[in-house]
Amino acid sequence: MSPHILVTGGAGFIGSHTCVALAAAGYTPLIFDNFCNADPRVVERLETIIGNKPVAIQGDVRSRADLDRVFEQYRVQGVIHFAGLKAVGDSVADPLGYYDNNVAGSVVLAQAMLAAGVDTLVFSSSATVYGDPDQSPVPESAACRPANPYGRTKRMVEEILSDLHHANPSWRISVLRYFNPVGAHESGLIGEHPRGKPNNLMPFVSQVAVGLRDKLAVHGGDYPTPDGTGVRDYVHVMDLAEGHVAALRHSERQPGIVTLNLGTGQGASVLDVIKSFERASGKSIAHEIGPRRPGDVAANWADPTLATATLGWRATRTLDQMCADSWRWQQANPNGYEPSAAR
Ligand code: NAD
Ligand code: UDP
Repeated sequence: MSPHILVTGGAGFIGSHTCVALAAAGYTPLIFDNFCNADPRVVERLETIIGNKPVAIQGDVRSRADLDRVFEQYRVQGVIHFAGLKAVGDSVADPLGYYDNNVAGSVVLAQAMLAAGVDTLVFSSSATVYGDPDQSPVPESAACRPANPYGRTKRMVEEILSDLHHANPSWRISVLRYFNPVGAHESGLIGEHPRGKPNNLMPFVSQVAVGLRDKLAVHGGDYPTPDGTGVRDYVHVMDLAEGHVAALRHSERQPGIVTLNLGTGQGASVLDVIKSFERASGKSIAHEIGPRRPGDVAANWADPTLATATLGWRATRTLDQMCADSWRWQQANPNGYEPSAAR
């Protein structure tokens, strides 16, 4: 039995793309997901892309019994931990649900790993841990002041992992702080399909382009940015996926804990994204500039130099590619993985 990489949340947006990157790099991904925010049909799509069907286990990271079973049954070489809840607004309404899923879930996972003797972990953190940064580009040394329960769950897990590493110096831990993951696999077979009205910019723009929504509300046109709209660091989900493979390779070379920004190092405004998507799709994106969204920051983009120095990784795909790939996925799958939408 070849060693597996356990991918918690592997049926989700970033997890599914990371399974593709893992397989391309010669690893065997083992999906572990409770499917609370994923569609099991993603596994067949992965089979088409990868060439064989990844094993997918339904389980919850908060269940020690579910995890123990997996570690007993499979030879697990390392874990990439994506499983968690990610909606900022929901985390404000249901903080306990978020602390339970994201923090308690990560503790149970680490306990199960400790018991199973698996010491390699890549953790999905977020640029949200910085809150409203004093400067952009944001280096990893910037102060962490998460502004909502979701961001605090990520920061808490970062601190738990740091303590865990202090007590167990042979562990190999990568904490990856993602900026704004967008795009889709170039095949158009897997991508992001938010349930209900999208909160994030790219899925909203895609849904306007495909005719599911009338118009994009641009949240604020009076920020101190070049065109007045908010600036973010959009990073292609396949670049991000490859960053996880690079983190695993780094862990194989040396034990330790690293905390790294994964972003392009370039900011794009809301209007930049609209223009790029219009080029990619040939559609005009109806939009209207409205009030700022409460809690939004004007600008936030990464300083990714530490990730490049440590992992030899850098994001290579452009904003135009991100939009072209989002559009390909959206157009072919307007209803996500629903069979009526299958290609
Ligand atoms: P996603 O919701 O598509 O994926 C998360 C997956 O975890 C889903 O498949 C869900 O069903 C599963 N899951 C949730 N709780 C679980 C549990 N208790 N047990 C087992 N499975 C569970 O989200 P994503 O965008 O792929 O994000 C992956 C990770 O990256 C999350 O931890 C998220 O917080 C983090 N992250 C995401 C973004 C982003 O903008 N997408 C940015 C920064 C960090
Ligand atoms: N945004 C927008 N309209 C939307 C969704 C987002 O104008 O319907 C803007 C938002 O104000 C921010 C940028 O797009 O400037 C990215 O927002 P997103 O929610 O995708 O990421 P985050 O703000 O969490 O970094």
